[in-house]
Amino acid sequence: MDCDRCSSAAVAYQAYSGQHLCDEHLSRSVRDRVRSRIREDDLLGEAEADDPQTWLIGLSGGKDSAVLGAILAETLGADRRVELRGIAVHEGIDGYRDESLEAARALAEQADIPLTERSFAETFDVRMDDVVEDDPKQMAACAYCGVFRRAILADVAESADADLLLTGHNLDDECETALMNLFEGDVDQMARHFDASLGPLDERADPGPHVPRAKPLRDVPEKEVALYARLDGLPAHITECPHAAESFRGEIQELMLDVEDRHPGTRHSVMAGYERLARLAAIDREAATTGRCEDCGRPSGNDRCRACELQAALSA
Ligand code: SF4
Ligand SMILES: [Zn+2]
Ligand SMILES: [Zn+2]
Repeated sequence: MDCDRCSSAAVAYQAYSGQHLCDEHLSRSVRDRVRSRIREDDLLGEAEADDPQTWLIGLSGGKDSAVLGAILAETLGADRRVELRGIAVHEGIDGYRDESLEAARALAEQADIPLTERSFAETFDVRMDDVVEDDPKQMAACAYCGVFRRAILADVAESADADLLLTGHNLDDECETALMNLFEGDVDQMARHFDASLGPLDERADPGPHVPRAKPLRDVPEKEVALYARLDGLPAHITECPHAAESFRGEIQELMLDVEDRHPGTRHSVMAGYERLARLAAIDREAATTGRCEDCGRPSGNDRCRACELQAALSA
């Protein structure tokens, strides 16, 4: 089968657009979607060459953040309005994270992005391998992991005086989150989702002491991100984490992919409608957190932040 845009052999079929694409046109279409997302969300804002913004990219060593880092470096590497930096976090997962950290370092070097590395061990005296062995709160490993990782990303973003914290979430990730919020009927969470990444920067609530976040890959399906990484030969580690056990998300993912298979374009239509709903939910939101944790000083709505709470439970 030939590409619908040229005579080269097609490497991908986009069922939702009805197009067959060759490697060059698939890659170009992924880059174009990232660039238009940056424009639509107005991520560059008032950035000037003599007062550049710092964009901190979460590099996990996986394909999503590799594609994000590579496209941002290609698009903005020579743009004096933006300085790109990377952050990689070691959660203390033997085997898995050592290799993915190698991939993150290789990507950062290839894309010429200075990389900061932090670990759960040095920051919280915690390793995820130990948490799953002895879990005081009897909750999924990912629940601890997410809290500690977000705290470290926020620390590094704050100390680097970053203007934006960017992550490699793709269309499938965002659609799963949207469906989870809808299925749980969690309207407040929809508003937070809007403020965290869905709305253009100038429509979101004042983030208070938090660094604003952005997900420029959120229009690109996971399969196309994976193909882009492979076609571009990007260093990426693709093994799944041994502690991954987000069962509700897994169920939603299965459902979403099944419906997408039978009705191509479903992910896009869910996100288009959900974004409008989330915008409405966000009109009614409460003000952003402006307080700080009494123990560690990180932004928090309570006296003690969740990271400190979990760290205390683990060391008890
Ligand atoms: S799958 Fe869960 S435990 Fe593993 S790195 Fe991701 S959040 Fe952490
Ligand atoms: Zn082509
Ligand atoms: Zn704290």
